Amino acid sequence: MNFSEWPKFVCVECSKSELKSTDVGFECPACGKKYPQHKATKIPVFVSSRSPLDEHEILSHEVKEAALDLEVANSHWNTGPLRAMLGKTSGKRVLSFGSGDGGDRAWLERAGYELVCFDIYPGPFTDVVCDGHELPFADAQFDIVVSTAVFEHLYNPFQAAREIHRVLKPGGTLVGSAAFLEAYHANSYFHMSHLGLTEVFRRAGFGEIELHPGWSYVESLNGRFWVWNNVKLISKITRPWRRFRYLVGMALWKMAYGMKGRPIPDRVRLGFAGSLLFRAVKPNV
Ligand SMILES: [Zn+2]
Repeated sequence: MNFSEWPKFVCVECSKSELKSTDVGFECPACGKKYPQHKATKIPVFVSSRSPLDEHEILSHEVKEAALDLEVANSHWNTGPLRAMLGKTSGKRVLSFGSGDGGDRAWLERAGYELVCFDIYPGPFTDVVCDGHELPFADAQFDIVVSTAVFEHLYNPFQAAREIHRVLKPGGTLVGSAAFLEAYHANSYFHMSHLGLTEVFRRAGFGEIELHPGWSYVESLNGRFWVWNNVKLISKITRPWRRFRYLVGMALWKMAYGMKGRPIPDRVRLGFAGSLLFRAVKPNV
């Protein structure tokens, strides 16, 4: 990716200055910190001395060619109203917050968006390597930040949300999903309820917040717990059955509340979700 026009980078070490591009990466005029690039791919690596990420490990990471697999991205974007929530945003400049497999990139580029993708290791679809808790982008660079199934992998979601808020333009939107009732997976730290997510986004400065259930605990927990579901074919057959059981259960809740003439409360609507889908808007100042 050619960064000459956009986005602007800032120093993650001192946050005092925009970075200058050099032949071998980037450099901070204020503190002198040099940011190298991955040799084979020329992907710049922005890691501060505070980050637990290991710069040497990142630089020696072997990037293998990989075929683009849209299956995961398709299933993410077809979950509940996630796509409809993206449709409520304006602007085309998108930061993909941790999209290592490239699925989101391909999906969003097809939909006409301009992407910057970062992850914590270099990959064939990555533009920038950095730590999601310390973004190397200047303030207000993006119209939209997309983050699907990443928040549970952050050791400090409050800090990351503040960073997302900072790099969004006023009126910009964060759209994505995060685990709630999912089993532990791939170094996940904090699985959040709707109240947890709301707290994280509010404290970061977001205004309007919209939440919906993604897949359900029946699908996420049962799907992972029963070992036979590791066989792809079996999982394919049992998946609709898990969905069906959840829908039946929800229909019973709806009936119960309907008989009392009351709408379903968030405790039921969102309380059995495997993941939650969110849209959070940075207020226009
Ligand atoms: Zn600096």
